[in-house]
Amino acid sequence: MRIVVQKYGGTSVANPELIKNVARRVVRTREEGNQVVVVVSAMGHTTDQLLELAQAITSHPPEREVDMLLATGEQVSIALMAMAINELGYPVVSFTGAQAGITTDRNHTKALIKKVDPKRVRQALEEGKIVVVAGFQGATDDDEIATLGRGGSDTTAVALAAALQADICEIYTDVDGVFTGDPRVVPTAQKLDFISYDEMLELASLGAVVLQPRSVEFAKQFSVPLHVRSSFNDHEGTRVGEVSCMEKSRLVSGVAHDLNVAKIGLFDVPDRPGIAKHIFKKLAAENINVDMIIQSWMHNGKNDIVFTVTRDDLPKALPVVEKVVKEIRASGMDYNDRVAKVSIVGAGMVTNPGVAAAMFEALADEDINIEMISTSEIKVSCVIREDQAVKAVNAIHAKFFEENKGY
Ligand code: ADP
Ligand code: ASP
Ligand code: MG
Repeated sequence: MRIVVQKYGGTSVANPELIKNVARRVVRTREEGNQVVVVVSAMGHTTDQLLELAQAITSHPPEREVDMLLATGEQVSIALMAMAINELGYPVVSFTGAQAGITTDRNHTKALIKKVDPKRVRQALEEGKIVVVAGFQGATDDDEIATLGRGGSDTTAVALAAALQADICEIYTDVDGVFTGDPRVVPTAQKLDFISYDEMLELASLGAVVLQPRSVEFAKQFSVPLHVRSSFNDHEGTRVGEVSCMEKSRLVSGVAHDLNVAKIGLFDVPDRPGIAKHIFKKLAAENINVDMIIQSWMHNGKNDIVFTVTRDDLPKALPVVEKVVKEIRASGMDYNDRVAKVSIVGAGMVTNPGVAAAMFEALADEDINIEMISTSEIKVSCVIREDQAVKAVNAIHAKFFEENKGY
């Protein structure tokens, strides 16, 4: 029997009617002769509401307790989903992340999955049951509940699919698949039939929230075929897999934008070995991820260093940088959290030097100033003003995907 893992996001299970709708889809997949594991997110905006509740109590909730709170969202969904499937007359059982055998590290609120031992899931499947698993959560070795970061249900689904050697992992969401840009922001975005793991990983990491980056990493590592599609219709969505010949010829696959960005600058930093190590080791010790880093040309033995972090991490990063500025005798620091990052991703650009220039031209034509640039073999990213982000992605998208404006 084929094993199918299906993941349904928050919008797809936002109310009882939608939960019943998903239950019917699940049962249909089962009727087609598959063993089905269903991973569900919290209903609608539950996770945001739970975070607001925590903020109403304290602006500094302990992260262990945040996880205790957030994990309840998915637990509501699994129970209701199991009830809906039971109502349709099918044997079903729901499991929390821990019950499904998902072990994480101790990094509360953005834990990584260390191990998946799905023996209870397997046993339930063998008993003929449909299995419903809570996304976004697991437990540490010492039985502490931990969550996997926003969008983490995608990763639960792919990790389970890998552990069960499932035939396919279907990610059901509120759009028809992966598009050339966020369809809610770029109205002319087109659905992609196929995208490679590498390009999808870049897009997801650069702000395309349709898949959590970690889920794509897992999918690539364990060769799990993904199908991203809508829970509201039966259209074919986007397949994510190993690169195909056709894929190689595509210059740019998509544009992405990310508003969860802040930049921090250190001024007149002494130009000598060990300074960058000092700054970034201190940030790493606080578990702060640094993204783009720019160091300017040296003048009189001094440089400016500018880098980006997520806005979420800014409150943690600022005191660290303030301290470092004193330690290394820089002249000062500043930050700006009203910036955004816009990016293009495409496997074909590695051999085509004009691609970055075309992106800069699209921004220049809209009079948008570029504050920082970073490139890799398959992406170009620019930091710009936040209030210009929507205009920027649409201009870049038009440049690469619309006829007549084309690159
Ligand atoms: P779910 O609750 O199903 O996990 P998410 O909100 O996490 O849904 O992800 C789906 C959303 O991702 C879409 O509504 C869309 O606005 C956004 N998105 C961003 N970039 C893209 C893209 N390139 N293709 C498709 N959707 C995208
Ligand atoms: N409920 C969690 C979130 O809102 C996890 C998920 O939906 O994937 O981020
Ligand atoms: Mg999501």
